[in-house]
Amino acid sequence: MAIRPIVLAATLAVAALGTTTVTAQVYKETVSGHNGPMTVEVTIEKGAVKAVKVLKHSETVGIGSVAVEKIPAAIVKSNKADLAAVTGASVTSKAIEQAVEVALAKATGKSLKAKFKPGTYKSQAYGNNGYLNVEVTVTKDKIKSIKVPANQETPFMGGMAIKSISDDIVRYQTLNVDAVSGATVTSAAFKQAVGAALTQSGVNLAALQKPVPQKIKKFKGTRSESYDLVIVGAGGAGLSAAVTAGQAGKYRVIVLEKMPVIGGNTLRCASAFNTADPERQKLLPMTDTLKDAVVKAISEKPVSEEHRKLMADVKAKYEAYLASGSKTLFDCPEWHALQTYNGGDKVGHIPLIRTYAANTLDTLHWMQKLGTPVLDRVSQGAGALWQRTHQVDAPAGTGLVEPLYKAAVKEGTKIVTGMKAESLIVKNGRVVGVRASDKVGNNYAFNAKYGVILATGGYSQNKVLRQRSAPQLTADMVSTNQPGATGDGIVMATKIGAYTTGMNYV
Ligand SMILES: Cc1cc2nc3c(=O)[nH]c(=O)nc-3n(C[C@H](O)[C@H](O)[C@H](O)COP(=O)(O)OP(=O)(O)OC[C@H]3O[C@@H](n4cnc5c(N)ncnc54)[C@H](O)[C@@H]3O)c2cc1C
Repeated sequence: MAIRPIVLAATLAVAALGTTTVTAQVYKETVSGHNGPMTVEVTIEKGAVKAVKVLKHSETVGIGSVAVEKIPAAIVKSNKADLAAVTGASVTSKAIEQAVEVALAKATGKSLKAKFKPGTYKSQAYGNNGYLNVEVTVTKDKIKSIKVPANQETPFMGGMAIKSISDDIVRYQTLNVDAVSGATVTSAAFKQAVGAALTQSGVNLAALQKPVPQKIKKFKGTRSESYDLVIVGAGGAGLSAAVTAGQAGKYRVIVLEKMPVIGGNTLRCASAFNTADPERQKLLPMTDTLKDAVVKAISEKPVSEEHRKLMADVKAKYEAYLASGSKTLFDCPEWHALQTYNGGDKVGHIPLIRTYAANTLDTLHWMQKLGTPVLDRVSQGAGALWQRTHQVDAPAGTGLVEPLYKAAVKEGTKIVTGMKAESLIVKNGRVVGVRASDKVGNNYAFNAKYGVILATGGYSQNKVLRQRSAPQLTADMVSTNQPGATGDGIVMATKIGAYTTGMNYV
């Protein structure tokens, strides 16, 4: 007899489950949030919203995340998808509501068709550097065009992001377009401004949430391509290598970049460029304090033969300078090299540092020839050791990356984004190519006749590698580096037997 209540309870549970399966429908909708795609699960029963869950999102903690916490419950409570947005998180709030609207339309068999009041609508949103204005023209059933009048967004990167998003919005008639990685603020501002302009046309934005179709087709096996030179990484180093190869002759060169956009950390950098430069330094005076700094550095006890030789070279140049009676700031590649070595706790590789210092001025002139705008003023920039810091006259690293990119393209270089080098192909002890994959997992082999250049940058964003090399940089420490700075080149090269040095100086 004791078993009966259990049997009864089980029967009731089955009955309850049975009812649920018959009427409840669960929809997973992906909509465009402020920072990227959001996946929202909506449960609808007899036309009413029973549950809303945000399964995946990348909204800002403390802003968009507040809407992620509050809006789902509020929708269920009021059973409507049109609520007041959480203050400061209107884009996130609206995105969740739009997911619910799309699910409701599917559940009730209603079609969500975009209908506009024809015309041109203007709006704006705050981007990276100021207001980003848009003008959106619509017909009665279509977004016809998007114009962006002059704006203060970072040229080049911001421009590429705006063009790519704008093309997708018009082509696929959707606002559900991913932000361009590396230009997320501009992307979010642009989409927000377009959304606000479209709202004025009376369209229901939920009808513009169709996902953009996958553009890359999946294929089986490995696609093989052959080049003279394969360069991995489209940052400053990789693009410089491509331009140099192009200037050296008619080579078939490909640059593989894993991120959706080129530029790497070079695009984020402050573009401060250190080099001894007699022309630009000629108005700077030499003070007693500066003289003391030189004398101190050339008088100390050398730590190695290379150090002694470098000090002697600086001493010879300094004595010649004093003998000339010059009152202008003393500087030369040797002094630049000695200061760099001393500033790096005397652990650097002197021949490498000398090569670097001896080539900086030529590199600056080369970059200027390619179009890098360099100010005439020289100062002692943050972290610099002498008044030899040159400043590029353009936002962040755009004044470096844009000319390099244009020159590489002019030289006939093929630059492929979204292509991650995975490993090096080795034959008879020689690196003869790179295995790579695209963002849908297709496999490629890029064969290189003359060689492969690894220009994949640093590894501040690879917490495992960082912890191994420099445990003091704990995993919770954030980095100013771009997300792709994960040391892939180091990983690939060490896998085939390369040695590393100075890894703790990340
Ligand atoms: C905020 C900031 C400010 C800075 N300011 C200055 C400054 O004022 N002056 C200065 O001299 N230096 C500065 N630096 C340092 C300078 O930016 C870097 O040293 C320099 O840009 C490195 O250039 P790179 O080409 O080696 O690497 P990156 O420019 O980072 O390029 C490497 C590229 O390789 C790509 N890549 C990585 N792995 C793969 C893979 N598996 N397959 C395909 N592609 C891959 C990356 O996505 C990236 O695009 C700054 C750095 C930061 C982060």
